[in-house]
Amino acid sequence: MKKIALHWQILIGMFAGVVVGLLLSKSDIGSQIVIDYIKPFGKIFINLLKLIAIPLIIASLIKGISDLKDLSKLSSMGLKTIGLYLSTTVIAIVIGLTVVNIINPGSKISAENRESLMEDFSDNAATKIEAALNTSERGPLDALVNVVPSNIFEAASGNGNMLQVIFFVIFFAIGLILIPSEKAAPVKAFFDGLNDIILKMIDLIMLGAPYGVFALLAALVVESPGSDVFISLLWYALCVLIGLGLMIFVVYPTAVKLFTGKSYKFFFKGISPAQLLAFSTSSSAATLPVTMERTEEHLGVDKEVTSFVLPIGATINMDGTSLYQAVAAVFIAGALLPEPLTWGNQLTIVMTAGLASIGSAAVPGAGMVMLVIVLGAIGVPEAGLALIFAVDRPLDMCRTAVNVTGDAAVAMIVAKFEGKLNDPIPKEWDDHLEKVK
Ligand code: ASP
Repeated sequence: MKKIALHWQILIGMFAGVVVGLLLSKSDIGSQIVIDYIKPFGKIFINLLKLIAIPLIIASLIKGISDLKDLSKLSSMGLKTIGLYLSTTVIAIVIGLTVVNIINPGSKISAENRESLMEDFSDNAATKIEAALNTSERGPLDALVNVVPSNIFEAASGNGNMLQVIFFVIFFAIGLILIPSEKAAPVKAFFDGLNDIILKMIDLIMLGAPYGVFALLAALVVESPGSDVFISLLWYALCVLIGLGLMIFVVYPTAVKLFTGKSYKFFFKGISPAQLLAFSTSSSAATLPVTMERTEEHLGVDKEVTSFVLPIGATINMDGTSLYQAVAAVFIAGALLPEPLTWGNQLTIVMTAGLASIGSAAVPGAGMVMLVIVLGAIGVPEAGLALIFAVDRPLDMCRTAVNVTGDAAVAMIVAKFEGKLNDPIPKEWDDHLEKVK
């Protein structure tokens, strides 16, 4: 029998969870069964995701940065690429924050339901809120000071300090690039291998996703205090989709037109197969070969540019993911915290969502794992992830399509700046030319 694709399995798990939850919530015994025997599996699934977060940042960031090879001679192409990647990421986050602050899906949950959600989702909610309030009372540069850990083991011992871990890892990777290559080689090889192991572990965890999602949804339905939770979830999904839609249909094609003069139609015709593949695999890494092929052969970017810009982009440039993380963080905060987020919190979201998206691996579900960092940084209970689980997979598919499109758009712009944007040569002509040669 043909194996059902994972995204379908997850959708089936979601659906089954809702149905079972609805059926069992009709009786007290049924509800108790869900809480005692089904819910724990959802908790295990979330724990597994949180468990992998710190090793994932360490391995994928070190690999991503050390692939840059030469820091001192970072070519003009490197600087342009990183500059453009950072700019598109910040634009994406700002768009996400704007949409979610206007629509404010978290506030659609009543105060009563918020309290009971908070009790369900958080063991130590009170301390977290207190921490959040304390943060807003501190000095203006304290957030910056907090990024620099005084002890890496202490920083790595809790999921709330991931920004400090990221700081250490980036610092470490820069050191790695700067030492002689024969000394760096074994360390780099070690982290390459480690990265593969972590990605495999995420693969394995994702195999359990249909069951995890089933358990989470069944528990959510049984424990859900009211239908406004579901309605607000739909509003949340809508915020993410509006933001992603703006990126893919407005920001990228406009930037491409502005900087390279290439038309909307040309851009979409060239990149759409990669977008569709990204959508169905939810993995920029899996899509990379197709992204490269389309960008070279159909968008006319020279191989010299694609082979540098696109692999780095697949690892660090995730505009869709960063936008989603910003929206999700504000939504979960709105759903669980009684106080609205401060400007300082929103600024923290811009920084942490940017870093978290850079640290996200290009595989399904990675963006949600890294959301833990953003939540931790603004003092929202990480267990609030359970709230958005139900709709995460379809959103992952859409944000991955945005991630890939962003990489291709930046590759075109860098190629234009470097004088390496050609008119694409249709494959048949290319083959013909090869033969003639
Ligand atoms: N699935 C995304 C990607 O591969 C990452 C994520 O947001 O989960 O680009």
